[in-house]
Amino acid sequence: MSTVSMTEIVDALREAREAHIEKLKDWLRIPSVSTDSTRKDEVRRAGEFIRDELVDAGFAVRLDETPGHPVALGKWDGAPGAPTLLVYGHYDVQPPEPLELWRHGAFEPTVEGENLIARGATDDKGQALALVLGIGEVLRRRGSLPVNVTFLIEGEEEIGSPNLEPYIREHADELKADIALISDCSQFGPGLPAITVGLKGLCYLQIDLTGPNRDLHSGSFGGAVDNPANVLATMISRLKDDDGRVLIPGFYDKVRELTDEDRAAIRALPFSEEEFARDLEVDALHGEKGYGTLERKWARPTLDVNGLLSGWTGEGAKTVLPSRAMAKFSMRLVADQHPDEIAEMTKAFLRELCPPTCTMEISIDHGAEPVLVDPTNPWLAVASRAVERGFGKAPVMIREGGSIPVVSVLKQVLGIDTILLGLGLPDDNAHSPNEKFHLPDYQRGIETAAWLLEEMAGS
Ligand SMILES: [Zn+2]
Repeated sequence: MSTVSMTEIVDALREAREAHIEKLKDWLRIPSVSTDSTRKDEVRRAGEFIRDELVDAGFAVRLDETPGHPVALGKWDGAPGAPTLLVYGHYDVQPPEPLELWRHGAFEPTVEGENLIARGATDDKGQALALVLGIGEVLRRRGSLPVNVTFLIEGEEEIGSPNLEPYIREHADELKADIALISDCSQFGPGLPAITVGLKGLCYLQIDLTGPNRDLHSGSFGGAVDNPANVLATMISRLKDDDGRVLIPGFYDKVRELTDEDRAAIRALPFSEEEFARDLEVDALHGEKGYGTLERKWARPTLDVNGLLSGWTGEGAKTVLPSRAMAKFSMRLVADQHPDEIAEMTKAFLRELCPPTCTMEISIDHGAEPVLVDPTNPWLAVASRAVERGFGKAPVMIREGGSIPVVSVLKQVLGIDTILLGLGLPDDNAHSPNEKFHLPDYQRGIETAAWLLEEMAGS
C-alpha cells in the first residue's frame, strides 16, 4: 500500500499551480454557451474536456447522452464501506453579451493581477475544476481514495437543467451517496470562506388582464370602461402592505422562523447596511419590517414584480385606454414553504382582487423548493474542517437568496443534503461582463477538495 502523505499531496498541488491555471484557461477558451444552439458542438467539447480530465485522474468515466447536452459521470468506488461523496458541477456558461463591456474577449482568458477574467471563470468552470483537480491529485498520487467519489458534471445548468432531474432519477443507483458537494456559489467576502446552508425557493407567475376588446380613445371611452393598466396597478398594490409584508392569506403559515441563535450568527457577520445602500446608490433600503437586510435577503420570503407591460410606451403621447395589461412577478420562498401551495394561494387571492370589469389569465412558470440544511448535520462539521485546512480559516454559515434547483432534486431523489462550498467571491461578476475568479481562492479550493476526502475518511 502506498502511503503518500497529505503534505506531499499539498506540496504537489502547490507546485502544479501554474499548470492548473493553464488547464482552466484551456477549458475557458471553449465557448460552451448552452442557450446558443449554434454552439452545440462547443458545449459538447467542454463536456469532453472535463471527461478527459477525470479519465486522466483515474476515474471510470462516461459522457452520457441526454435529449440536450451530455452529462459527464465519473466514479471511483474502490472503498467499500466508506462514505460516498457526490460532486456536482456544470460545464456550460452564460452568454457573454454585451461583448463591448468586456476588457478582453470573453473566451480569451486573461490574468489581471490575482484574477483570471473569462466567461465561466467562477461560474462554474473554475470552481468545478478546483474540485476535480484536488480530488484527482489524491487518486493520481495514491492510486486510491479514502472515500468513494462520484462526479456529476452537466451542461445545461444555465438553461434550467431540463434533463438533469430525469437523468438523476434514471441513474439513482449509480448516484447513491451520503452527501453532495457543490461549488457554484460564493464566500461571504474576501478572506471569509463560507458554507451556504440555506437557499430560497421560487414561485413565478404571470398575470394577463384584458378589459375592452380593443385599445380605445381615452377621451371618448375614459369613464365608461375600466382600464386594465389601472386595475393591474391596484391589484399589485394589494399584494403587500406598507411594512413590506405579503398579504396573500396563508403565505407565512409554513415559514420557519429565525431562531435567536440564527439571528445572533447573522448579526456577527461583517455587513454594513450603509455600504450596501451606497453600492446600490439608494438613499434608503427597504424590506419587511422587523428584520435586518441580511435576514430579509436570506431567511424571509419576498414578492417582487419582475416585469410590467401595458398601453403606449413609445415616444410622445398616445391617449390610449389599453385593452390589455401584463405583469410577471416572483416570490422567493424559504423553508418550509412549498412553491405549488404558494401558487395556489396566490391564484385564489388574485381572483379575489380582480374586479368583474376585466378578465384575468394566470400562468405559473417554473418553481423551486427552498433548502435549509440542519445545522447539526455532521457533514457540515467535516466540510468546515476541510475548509479550515484549505483556506486557513473556518467557514461561516450563510444563506443565499437565489435558488440552485439541483440541491432539492438531490434531496428528493437521492435523499441527501448538499454542502454548498463557495470558492468564488460576491463580486465575481457571474453572468455579467468581466467575470473573474480570484486565483488564490482557486488554489485554496483545490487544496480544500483534497483535504475534504481526508476529513470524511476520519469522521
Ligand atoms: Zn453556476
